[in-house]
Amino acid sequence: MDGRYLSDAAHFPGGHAAAIAVPRTTAEIPAIVRAALTLLPVGAQSSLTGGATPMGEIVLSTEKLARILDIGGGSIRVEAGVPIASIQHVLASHDAWFPPVPTFTGAFAGGTVATNAAGAATFRHGSVRPWVQALDVVLADGSELTIVRGEHTARDGRLRVPTTSGTIEVPVPAYRMPRVDKVSAGYFAAPGMDLIDLFIGS
Ligand SMILES: Cc1cc2nc3c(=O)[nH]c(=O)nc-3n(C[C@H](O)[C@H](O)[C@H](O)COP(=O)(O)OP(=O)(O)OC[C@H]3O[C@@H](n4cnc5c(N)ncnc54)[C@H](O)[C@@H]3O)c2cc1C
Repeated sequence: MDGRYLSDAAHFPGGHAAAIAVPRTTAEIPAIVRAALTLLPVGAQSSLTGGATPMGEIVLSTEKLARILDIGGGSIRVEAGVPIASIQHVLASHDAWFPPVPTFTGAFAGGTVATNAAGAATFRHGSVRPWVQALDVVLADGSELTIVRGEHTARDGRLRVPTTSGTIEVPVPAYRMPRVDKVSAGYFAAPGMDLIDLFIGS
């Protein structure tokens, strides 16, 4: 087994994995998720928390999912494994940039969304959260979901999640979020929240 997947930038000791999966296409992901008892998706493993250090899970590395799919109209659509530096490079050729850059631009798109990453520019432009318009998600049962901001908001304290295997209802978390510029501890929660925000920073 390739030991480079067994720790992240926190250098938390004791990392070990049941297996390493390195899909080349997103179409492979649902089957990997369904086959895994426990799964740890990882990006560049630049987490400073130990959150990207496996403790016996199957590691799903997104490093080969590195295609830039579309750019234009003020947005860019990328696979999870595209480094932020590559996004900035491509955007620069369109006289654009991704404002809420974390300090480490080797981090991947998927990792920055999963951690609701932030950087010095966050004081002016916010964290990654408000800059994410849509996500393709694979849920723990392998079902797939495309979420576009504004299409699914909570009603009566519940979010309705339309997956390929039926609609799941989940309650909006009951706790109150602290009023700070970046939060990625626990799921986002707010009355009338957008479903996409349940995944960003999750
Ligand atoms: C020098 C340095 C500077 C840093 N500066 C900042 C900073 O300014 N701001 C900041 O916020 N962070 C910073 N970080 C921390 C880290 O770079 C960010 O949190 C980054 O967003 C993590 O991205 P990654 O691709 O490395 O994700 P990883 O470290 O691989 O994963 C982080 C977490 O996200 C999950 N995850 C990753 N990809 C996916 C996916 N596709 N789907 C679902 N879950 C996924 C993992 O399971 C893990 O829980 C810094 C790190 C370093 C080493």
